[in-house]
Amino acid sequence: MKTISYIFPIYNEAKNIPLLYETVSAVTQPLRDRYNLQFVFVNDGSRDESIDMLRGIQATDPSVVVVDFARNYGHQIAVTAGIDYADGDAIIIMDSDLQDPPRVSLELIEKWEEGFDVVYAVRASRKDSFFKRTTAHAFYWLLHTVADIDIPRNTGDFRLIDRRVAEELKRYTERNRFLRGMVSNIGFKQTGVLFDRDERNAGETGYPFKKMWSFALDGFFSFSSAPLKAISRLGYGMAVLSLLGALYAFTVRVFFPETVIEGWTFIVISVFLVGGIQLIMLGVLGGYIGRIYTEVQNRPLYSVQSVYASAGRRANG
Ligand code: UDP
Ligand code: MG
Repeated sequence: MKTISYIFPIYNEAKNIPLLYETVSAVTQPLRDRYNLQFVFVNDGSRDESIDMLRGIQATDPSVVVVDFARNYGHQIAVTAGIDYADGDAIIIMDSDLQDPPRVSLELIEKWEEGFDVVYAVRASRKDSFFKRTTAHAFYWLLHTVADIDIPRNTGDFRLIDRRVAEELKRYTERNRFLRGMVSNIGFKQTGVLFDRDERNAGETGYPFKKMWSFALDGFFSFSSAPLKAISRLGYGMAVLSLLGALYAFTVRVFFPETVIEGWTFIVISVFLVGGIQLIMLGVLGGYIGRIYTEVQNRPLYSVQSVYASAGRRANG
């Protein structure tokens, strides 16, 4: 029998864990005569009772594996660890706040059985705030325009990946992880399934604006060198502008010597403008250099404090 692993990153989800577990168990019940099921919960340094609840569930259900991180590493790393510990022939990644409806996973599995290696869930509609929707839209539009890869629109990390893709993913050791980009970069046979994204069931988002912003930057810097190219383009632009300015000054001086050019406003503005542009561009360089630095340090992606799994199921990792 083939095994299907579900991965749930958990950050302060105590209010969602009971319903999540209940729903997922109910939805996947019919699968049990065709597949072995495994549920990998990765506790990403939650500060509420999540870990106790997970351990409680694990004690009664041998198909549950709980990976307990030493601290909070962030959603993308939690999912990465889930993939590392999952044994499945297919791995399903989804959020733990029931925004990704568990029943949709059945459709993902159907497509997988048809021969697809990656089946991502495409949001036909989403119930997030106006702000989140518009910023997400703008971000994916920009990424689509400048990035070197083609990330399907309106997809998150809710998806199924085949074991082969999971093994490929393990060879991507980068620290600043943008999984949906990496999966799309890997290739294989990919397809999408439409679904309506629900609201978060309970609790608060673990992705406040600051985290969203740095996640967006990871996406950019990892998959595009467009900002670097923009530096030299801007440089050329400024050079052309100053040439035009010089030409103008020269013409006035030679042909209309009686004209007085009041230049100080212009000078001050251009000093600030050029200074500003240079600082922004230094920031762009800093963005890449900072990432190079974390890669070179080559630290482990995460530290696990304990793994709870039933005897007999040797979780790898
Ligand atoms: N999450 C995590 N670590 C974090 C933040 C979030 O593992 O540092 C998990 C969270 O428990 C949830 C998923 O990632 O299962 C998506 O997070 P959330 O629902 O808070 O994000 P949103 O849906 O608001 O973008
Ligand atoms: Mg959510």
